[in-house]
Amino acid sequence: MAQKVTGHTELLGLMAMPSRHSNSPLMHNTAFEKLGLDCVYVCFDVGLNEIEDAVKAIRTLNLKGCNVSMPNKSAVCRYLDRLSPACELIGACNTIVNKNGQLEGHNTDGIGYMAMLKDNGADIRGKKMVLAGAGGAGTAIAIQAALDGVGELSIFNIHDEFWENAHRTAKKINEKTGCKAYVHPLEDKALLKHEIESSYIFTNATGVGMKPLEGMTVVPSSDFFRKDLIVVDIIYSPPKTRLLELAEEAGCRIHINGTGMMLFQGAAAFKLWTGRDMPVDDIKEVLGL
Ligand code: NAD
Repeated sequence: MAQKVTGHTELLGLMAMPSRHSNSPLMHNTAFEKLGLDCVYVCFDVGLNEIEDAVKAIRTLNLKGCNVSMPNKSAVCRYLDRLSPACELIGACNTIVNKNGQLEGHNTDGIGYMAMLKDNGADIRGKKMVLAGAGGAGTAIAIQAALDGVGELSIFNIHDEFWENAHRTAKKINEKTGCKAYVHPLEDKALLKHEIESSYIFTNATGVGMKPLEGMTVVPSSDFFRKDLIVVDIIYSPPKTRLLELAEEAGCRIHINGTGMMLFQGAAAFKLWTGRDMPVDDIKEVLGL
């Protein structure tokens, strides 16, 4: 890669802490190479103490754009010039586009989730979804699903710092979209089972299932699931969480991990930066999808 960098090469990157484990450099640099674009994507370890200066550096060094991940997704919004409607509603940004020094904030997590469902032949318009998790990713999924026409949304969260956020998200959805959103305590497993029974799709957007909660699941047993229920776990490391094992045990025909969502959120960011479609079939091969 270094040999191909020229005086005209445009720079993009990821601002997160930690950042080095990310698949985004592999994904975007492969796509740049396939399309012959003179761009390079690198990782920057940036935490909450550095994010303001890092955003200034985007302007100073004229970076073409950036991804933003934990813990900066909410904090970065106040340093940007404009926010997309989804970014504004979600209150978090994962993609910055530099338009002649004006920095635009976007959120492609929910778009990536919806594109991943489409890629798997699932259409949730007018249907009911049960969603566990009202953190950054859960909020992006809830808002985008509601904007795209999901009929009913049951959001479950434990009584932690995200509980109030679940209520704020449901309120926004009920006020601004045609979707009916409800919030329930994730501690109430009988209610979770009852809600899943009438749902078309169950999605886990909590961190339960990945380190440090690897091997754990928000759903206690496979009898919460039935064959025609779509089960999604947005975790991609490990690729098969305990939740997806339970979905397999229950014989669910469609059960999906988070790699596809990661790919399509990246493809949406790539399009915003370059105006070009990411060659997703090539990237799927590189990611082992
Ligand atoms: P976050 O910190 O904003 O939210 C964490 C969520 O997990 C909250 O809803 C919280 O209540 C819940 N949670 C935490 N501990 C819990 C426990 N013990 N029991 C039940 N719920 C618990 O994090 P985030 O950015 O929303 O990420 C959540 C998960 O989604 C992570 O595993 C992350 O890797 C994954 N993610 C995947 C993609 C993708 O593209 N596939 C994108 C973003 C996030």
